[in-house]
Amino acid sequence: MSLETSCCQAHKRKRTEESQSMASTPVIRRSERIWFDDGNIVLQAEATQFRIHKSLMSRQSSVFRDMLDVPQPEGEATVDGCEVVCVTDTAEDWTNVFIILYDGVKVYRPSSPFSLPVLQSMLRLGKKYGIDHLWDSAKERLAVELPTTLECWDKAYDDKDKKAKTHVYHAFDFVNVLFDVGIKSLLPAAYLACIESHSLHEVFRGAERDDGSIAHLPFEAQAALAIGRNKLCCEVPVDWLKEPDDARLCPGDCYDARFQLLRVLVRVWPRLEVISPQGCSVFYETFKSPLCIFCKEIVRKKIEASRRKLWNELPGYFDLPSWEELRKDRY
Ligand SMILES: [Zn+2]
Repeated sequence: MSLETSCCQAHKRKRTEESQSMASTPVIRRSERIWFDDGNIVLQAEATQFRIHKSLMSRQSSVFRDMLDVPQPEGEATVDGCEVVCVTDTAEDWTNVFIILYDGVKVYRPSSPFSLPVLQSMLRLGKKYGIDHLWDSAKERLAVELPTTLECWDKAYDDKDKKAKTHVYHAFDFVNVLFDVGIKSLLPAAYLACIESHSLHEVFRGAERDDGSIAHLPFEAQAALAIGRNKLCCEVPVDWLKEPDDARLCPGDCYDARFQLLRVLVRVWPRLEVISPQGCSVFYETFKSPLCIFCKEIVRKKIEASRRKLWNELPGYFDLPSWEELRKDRY
């Protein structure tokens, strides 16, 4: 039996021709972790076979439930008496997902470290085989890293140092995962993270991961980042640098301090850190600056209003639908 007939036929052909052409036939091996002696169905991904339970697959996956309802035709190949289901997914994806289905869901608890490849497997197979809880849980976990609200974005920044010690993934890799599984709603935060930490040169040419390998972005993401960066740079919020409307409330001359703040702003703006409070030098400089108390409060409120405005309009900068539209989309 097969989910992808052509795949299974190809494997059957390979088995038939095995004696004639050993050199071109992949060696089929049994998964060490996912092979249950009381399993009653064998799933084959690439050259790896998993012996599992029909009842588990039917319970977890709407696609398998429908398929396993259909009686197996006579003469189909079996392994240890179990029918064989061939799929075109990677063995790694199925290994990751079977570990979760059999051993639990701790890998994607919002408070714990996570593995991006495991989340990607959950999203890929969860979507393809209708394993809804895998999809929902993995997306929820990713959304902790790539928020859709400014409050959560700020919180992610608060937690950044703590997280950095346990797991670090390249900003480009998050974008690649979102493209792979078709999630648009988390792209604005992923794009913003790319802009904050990488130059345009890296966006187009690739950027180095911690292990020395190079991360690249899809062409569509490169274009979105170039366009978004350009639009955001044209929106530098500098109105808070003006003299306060009611200058009588300012006891000193804050002109020089405002000029110093402008210099800082110009320096950090190319990386658009103004949206991120913890990474925003301007924000800190504001409170260390010699502005009077009155002007500091005005500047603080205006910077906060600018951040909120930019965040609310963020998807549009990258030619994405509005937050409202993006949040409606389950995928
Ligand atoms: Zn002042």
